[in-house]
Amino acid sequence: MLDIKDILSHLSYKQACKLLGPEGEKFIRTGGQFEISLEDQVILNRDFFQLDMEEAVVTISLDPMKEKELNCVCSVCNTACNHKGAALSLILEEKLALGLSAPPPERVPIESLSEQELVEQELKDRIERANTQKMRIQPFGKNELWTDYSVTNLASGKSYRVALRGWERGESYCTCPDFRKNTLGTCKHILHVINNVRKRFRKNIRETPFQIKNICVYLRYGTDLELRLLIPESLDSKSTETVRPFINRPIKDVHKLLKQVNILEKEGHDVIIYPDAEEFISRMLYCEQVKLKVEGIRKDPARHPLRKSLLKTELLPYQLDGIAFAVGLGRAVIADDMGLGKTIQGVGVAELLAQDANIAKVLIICPTSLKSQWRLEIERFTDRSCRLIIGNAEERAAQYDSHSFYTVCNYEQVLRDIQNIEKIKWDLIILDEGQRIKNWETKTSQVVKALKSPFALVLTGTPLENRLEELFSIVEFIDDRHLGPAFRFYNTYRVTDEKGKLLGYKKSGQPEKSAQTGTYTAHTCRSHKGTAAPNH
Ligand SMILES: [Zn+2]
Ligand SMILES: [Zn+2]
Repeated sequence: MLDIKDILSHLSYKQACKLLGPEGEKFIRTGGQFEISLEDQVILNRDFFQLDMEEAVVTISLDPMKEKELNCVCSVCNTACNHKGAALSLILEEKLALGLSAPPPERVPIESLSEQELVEQELKDRIERANTQKMRIQPFGKNELWTDYSVTNLASGKSYRVALRGWERGESYCTCPDFRKNTLGTCKHILHVINNVRKRFRKNIRETPFQIKNICVYLRYGTDLELRLLIPESLDSKSTETVRPFINRPIKDVHKLLKQVNILEKEGHDVIIYPDAEEFISRMLYCEQVKLKVEGIRKDPARHPLRKSLLKTELLPYQLDGIAFAVGLGRAVIADDMGLGKTIQGVGVAELLAQDANIAKVLIICPTSLKSQWRLEIERFTDRSCRLIIGNAEERAAQYDSHSFYTVCNYEQVLRDIQNIEKIKWDLIILDEGQRIKNWETKTSQVVKALKSPFALVLTGTPLENRLEELFSIVEFIDDRHLGPAFRFYNTYRVTDEKGKLLGYKKSGQPEKSAQTGTYTAHTCRSHKGTAAPNH
């Protein structure tokens, strides 16, 4: 006789939706957003599956009346609900962890692969996922091959946009996070679209290359991130001359580019600057703009007037140095021993950015126990308003949207209030990890890492050198391409035996890169350096 495990192991997304009725898709998508611990909240035996969500308990068992049919019951709701959605979403996504499907064949640990083998394996992984995962594709242009496609993953409900521009790696574009950082020039969404359109379009259409209709400035996501320009073949010779220095090569001189774009627009051409390229350009311009000031401060922080004028207290030279460092980069990590005034540096960065970049909304995310301290210090060192997030959901929603310059919330609130937080345009997000965030792989940290802001700062208490996984995760928030994709990072820095067991870390597999990480993104404040007596 079949037991429930046999039935659940074959449960498809469609069947799961059907089980919850006409709105099944919605419940499974919403239910998939709960954070669930398989160990503590789930029971699965031969007779039933049970998910304990505190507010409700969902039990799935075989229907005694009908053979092979499932019975899904929520202890609170009589109709289909998010709890049931959560249970079914969990089963669909965690078949392996629940023991409902066989583990994949063992792979060679990535650490022992050569660069080329590594890339091949990562590509194979994505091809496999493109072939097996269920996705819905909607083209933006009807009956067009080279158009944009909205791709929705049916298991997670997440949608991304694929711009299909060619068959080769590096020619197309996807908005998903994997594409942005994997340096492969492709992702499972692009590959899935390619599979799909190969069948739908005739050979002669497939072999007609994409025609550029507008002049456009875009980012090319290869091993290096490059700003590039594309022009249509039909562009007149005068305009082609205007942009000639930018054709077929990465653009370094942004000022010149913007000047030439201006000329083209005056001549009546439409120039498309893609949002990610625009972000890239404004970051280059910003870094250039603050460069001189930052260099001036860092040359002699002890004597710089900002040491006394930036905050309503006198900064120690190393504190001002750390602040200037972070402001110079726009997105940075400040690693500071405990008790050396991380808060003061965080506030200093916000204040200097208010002067130099006109920022107006700062979100500080910290452990609950540090929220009041942040407010206290903000009120002590500045004349600005500070809003602590407290109260019930409705109250909290209004608080994020207040006119305060500073808003302080804790990590758990980010997960709960993410929709309200995302509605606000934050200029600077400061993560105070307190002593340390135990696990950067948790759902909270994934949500936190996905928050968007032009400026970002991570304040950390412990030296980063000993915490490679966390360093990777933190830097990923600051700049998700800085260390390259995870697979390359671990291949370079982690040494394992042939079974994949971690033996240790390579000191610096790629000297240029690791050296750059040390000075480029993370600023370590050491007490002996910091307590040099201020010059009076
Ligand atoms: Zn329920
Ligand atoms: Zn993608």
